[in-house]
Amino acid sequence: MRTSAALRASGPPIIQGKGAATGSVPTDEEQATGLERFELEHKLAGQDAFDMTPLQADRMGTTKEPIKVLSYFPTRIIGCSGSPAGSHDTVWLHLNRDLQHHRCSECGSVYEMDFQGDEHAEHH
Ligand SMILES: [Zn+2]
Repeated sequence: MRTSAALRASGPPIIQGKGAATGSVPTDEEQATGLERFELEHKLAGQDAFDMTPLQADRMGTTKEPIKVLSYFPTRIIGCSGSPAGSHDTVWLHLNRDLQHHRCSECGSVYEMDFQGDEHAEHH
């Protein structure tokens, strides 16, 4: 039986379940794959797969010391409301890992993606 995170000879881990028995309707536990399965397995273990805590807002991000934003996907949308949090209306920023610094148009705080995901995710 294949484990849910079996490694190929090269490339990213394959995250998939055993699938549903023929003629039955699959459950999420049986058919979820990839990031969805990654999150589901953490949920079932009582863990938070993705860090959902608010971003650091006790200081302004600068180009020298940007606020780091963990991401498992090559793009991520974040909301900035200044420092301290709530200083301005939320401005939504589209982060990507190709651009090092993303600056809030309202307060000027600088954010940088800390990409921890699959290097080839955007090619799928
Ligand atoms: Zn801001």
